[in-house]
Amino acid sequence: MPLVSLREVTKAYPSRSRGGYAVTAVDRVSLDIEAGDVYGIIGYSGAGKSTLVRLVNALEPVTSGSILVDGVEVTGLGERELRRLRLGIGMIFQQFNLFTSRTVWKNVAYPLRVAGLGRAETAARVDELLAFVGLSDKAQAYPEQLSGGQKQRVGIARALATRPRILLADEATSALDPETTHEVLALLKRVNEEFGVTIIVITHEMDVIQTLATKVAVMDAGRVVEHGEVFEVFSRP
Ligand code: ADP
Ligand code: ADP
Repeated sequence: MPLVSLREVTKAYPSRSRGGYAVTAVDRVSLDIEAGDVYGIIGYSGAGKSTLVRLVNALEPVTSGSILVDGVEVTGLGERELRRLRLGIGMIFQQFNLFTSRTVWKNVAYPLRVAGLGRAETAARVDELLAFVGLSDKAQAYPEQLSGGQKQRVGIARALATRPRILLADEATSALDPETTHEVLALLKRVNEEFGVTIIVITHEMDVIQTLATKVAVMDAGRVVEHGEVFEVFSRP
């Protein structure tokens, strides 16, 4: 059974202006993502990639179609089940979305506090995660004191805090220079290989897919126009 399975998923937004057309951000998308995949979703700006990610995380309801995560239909979940779903899905973002008024340590601890984990266990896990991303010496620093690559490493540590099975990376390296991008991609590869976390990588950059992903779906105007193994999709004429 795939870990994430989308069947004929459509998301339409009502028109913003009176008399304007509604936008179909995601248009009848079907995809299967297996446990352990690093699955890339590539497309130009406006293709529907971020919308797709918000649907998987149940941040928004689908207009039609079905999304199963670990066999559970995410549409129509109650609050308690939604919390459980989201504990199992970590997210990282282009602009890192760290709490600027909190230290690195507190940023990583935050989801564990929300989840109700005890102090000792929280502290052990935060220290372990900071060591994993190579930032133990920055525990008491504030985000503004860090480089972009370091901020994203904090983002990764925070996203992994609740030990999710899935990590959603939405343009996670788009704000970084090429060298830092490769460092962050190497770290994400380790997350996949060492922890077995399934990673869904949203990007407009081919290089990111070729460095990190094993499978890819190409999106255009809400539709998946091609998908398969990276080497197959990108060797097609
Ligand atoms: P991508 O992530 O590939 O850049 P998005 O998923 O952000 O694409 O957007 C896909 C389309 O849906 C775009 O036309 C965008 O303007 C539209 N869209 C996204 N979110 C909303 C929203 N909340 N309301 C209306 N239209 C939206
Ligand atoms: P609060 O204001 O929420 O009580 P604290 O400053 O007391 O926050 O810190 C919360 C917990 O995090 C405490 O158990 C503290 O010992 C632990 N903690 C904070 N920073 C570190 C660190 N660098 N290494 C280990 N534990 C830490």
